[in-house]
Amino acid sequence: MARIELNAIRKSFDTTDVLKGVDLAIEDGEFVSLVGPSGCGKSTLLRIIAGLEQQSTGEVRIGGRPVDGVRPSQRNLAMVFQSYALYPHLSVYDNIAVPLRMKRLSTLERMPVLGRLLPNRHRVEREIRGEVERVTDQLELSAFLKRKPGQLSGGQRQRVAVGRAIVRQPVAFLFDEPLSNLDAKLRVHMRAEIAQLHRRLGTTFVYVTHDQAEAMTMSGRIAVMIGGELVQVGRPAEVYDDPRDIRVAEFVGSPK
Ligand code: ADP
Ligand code: MG
Repeated sequence: MARIELNAIRKSFDTTDVLKGVDLAIEDGEFVSLVGPSGCGKSTLLRIIAGLEQQSTGEVRIGGRPVDGVRPSQRNLAMVFQSYALYPHLSVYDNIAVPLRMKRLSTLERMPVLGRLLPNRHRVEREIRGEVERVTDQLELSAFLKRKPGQLSGGQRQRVAVGRAIVRQPVAFLFDEPLSNLDAKLRVHMRAEIAQLHRRLGTTFVYVTHDQAEAMTMSGRIAVMIGGELVQVGRPAEVYDDPRDIRVAEFVGSPK
């Protein structure tokens, strides 16, 4: 269902060509990392997939359907950023419950006081509790449900952000350097967590990073982007052992 196809994607800001014709097909359930030096266009490409940015020319297809003009919220993708974008005043529980309430409750039913008087709200809140608990169990967040984001470590906050994405049951996850604010040790730990999450969910993951080691250890394939072009796409070992050119070799650190 969630094959993502990019056909001849170009993007210019004013006179600068940021993406110069990107072609890539990401299979359903695949883990593809988009890697490349800072400024090469990775975030722009991810934002185009998400619908947060409009390509100048070219076509994006998700699950076989062109998504031109489809709003971000209608694309059923989950985006996880380095800045966690959690609600600071809400508990872990509520942060994760928000997207569920948005989906299942009407505006009236979501109102703090009036909502409680409406019968449907109770039933739906019970279902939401079940789902939030299932996800927070999986992510080992059960002990922190009542805490606010400010009372969590960086890694825990990142897991809350992932939890909030999971409950929406997106057809694909888009990650934009989600670990870059974490210290080195935690980054290595979170790599393993994300790889495990991918195995468990079996959903398409598109993972942007400028850290080649991160990409190499987690992904099924890596797509190396340099100066707005995909220079090489392949399994990490393939790219490492047989880099197409000197720029790729330098970036992935091949012994050449
Ligand atoms: P990366 O994520 O690989 O670091 P970005 O996709 O963020 O790269 O940016 C690629 C290039 O596009 C950079 O030169 C950046 O300055 C430029 N750029 C990104 N967004 C905008 C924008 N909204 N307006 C103008 N230039 C932009
Ligand atoms: Mg970026």
